[in-house]
Amino acid sequence: MTLRIYNTLTRSKEEFTPLDPKNVRMYVCGPTVYDFAHIGNARPAIVFDVLYRLLRHLYGENHVTYVRNITDVDDKINARALRDYPGVPLNDAIRRVTETTYEQYQKDVTALGCLRPEFQPRATEHIAGMISMIEALIARGHAYQAEGEVLFDVGAMPDYGQLSHRKLDEQVAGARVAVDAHKKNPADFVLWKQSEPHEPGWESPWGRGRPGWHIECSVMSKAHLGEVFDIHGGGLDLIFPHHENELAQSRCAHGTKVMANYWMHNGFLQVEGQKMSKSLGNFVTISELLNTEKFGGRKWPGEVLRLAMLMTNYREPIDFSLARLTEAESKIGTWSEILQNETTKNFVQPPSADVVQALYDDLNTNAALEFISSCETGSRSSAAARAQLGADLGFLGMFPDREVQWFLDLPRFSQDEMQSIRSRVVKEMQANRLGIEIEAITTQIAARLEARKAKNWAESDRIRDELAGMGIAIKDNKDGTTSWEVKR
Ligand code: AMP
Ligand code: ZN
Repeated sequence: MTLRIYNTLTRSKEEFTPLDPKNVRMYVCGPTVYDFAHIGNARPAIVFDVLYRLLRHLYGENHVTYVRNITDVDDKINARALRDYPGVPLNDAIRRVTETTYEQYQKDVTALGCLRPEFQPRATEHIAGMISMIEALIARGHAYQAEGEVLFDVGAMPDYGQLSHRKLDEQVAGARVAVDAHKKNPADFVLWKQSEPHEPGWESPWGRGRPGWHIECSVMSKAHLGEVFDIHGGGLDLIFPHHENELAQSRCAHGTKVMANYWMHNGFLQVEGQKMSKSLGNFVTISELLNTEKFGGRKWPGEVLRLAMLMTNYREPIDFSLARLTEAESKIGTWSEILQNETTKNFVQPPSADVVQALYDDLNTNAALEFISSCETGSRSSAAARAQLGADLGFLGMFPDREVQWFLDLPRFSQDEMQSIRSRVVKEMQANRLGIEIEAITTQIAARLEARKAKNWAESDRIRDELAGMGIAIKDNKDGTTSWEVKR
């Protein structure tokens, strides 16, 4: 059996053959550090951590180089710095935003059992490399200057669109040409743009400015992994435009046929069918889930979130729900009970062949977990089987090096509690994003019910309007209760 992975580039499962088995190289796009990571962002961190562990197992711990970057140049970061640190010089404010967010990210992913990549480069440390790559692109006829920007010329790359399988003609047809009059082709994208005096910027041959988003990853991957490497990963949303453009820049700058041989993309974590994202407001941060009682009224251990992710294979969407977390928790509860008198770090043997084989099939974590579950009964009566169970879980990044007793002491929900919490959870997440306390809504609704009982319709309408002004819509139910939801 060999490792096979689904390659977005060819849209097929392929056998994995590294360029150099002594140095298997993987690059994964990491977070833009302007705000705390949400649990959707945790998915690529966890998925590629499992792959990293598998590669280390296959090729040896010292023969894998994993790079996950930190995007610390971005207009969203600037906006956040201005908002959060008024009066502080912009560069200092930016540093504060990126440092706090970066530190939190490290804590978050560590709590989720992710190993540290060999390199976590930051865009701000690679500006000089970006300038030289842009110069190379201009020199090779793949980029041009227009109105204070340096743009990548998609028309000069005959097979632009190979990753997302988009044809350039299709992109042009739908584009708004007038807005982009300075571009040769509406699909041309920014490599460098000039900064206003109050904006962060670096000196360059094209004036004081800052890089576009895509060029960062082309440069950071090259710096640590070379011009061509093995695996490039990230979430589905990155295929276009981010990865398409990274690939275009790197290939055109280096004159290579490929940038990475295998492109892997994890599916979305969804809430009620929609991608969890900052802009939709339907998100919960990793830290909130782990350290506060904002989701379902309680804290959740990192192992639970990790398992909740791995129960579904990485390319499929995950519908995030309380039911999923409790299902994961119950499995972990069973394993904790079996391993309660053991210290998992003592389990040094390699993982079971069945677990490794399951992962060989495009990281079939679900099959690996099914195998692990099938060993539960045996491990209750055999110390050797318990050691294997611990080793298998450890291989998947669970219970890395601690006793499991803590888990058994956690409070649990009854089925009834679960039901009532489940219906609240999503809208509470959304209300939290609007900065509205749930209590403020429920108090208002109670006051309105009182007003209605007293037939004080004016007061009842006033409260309805006030809630509407906050972004909350209410609905009077037949049974006399009133429910609410966040207006979209
Ligand atoms: P960002 O900070 O938004 O650039 O995202 C960091 C990483 O998280 C990227 O690999 C994204 O593709 C991934 N990502 C963002 N939202 C989700 C989601 N809801 N589900 C899965 N992956 C996501
Ligand atoms: Zn990237």
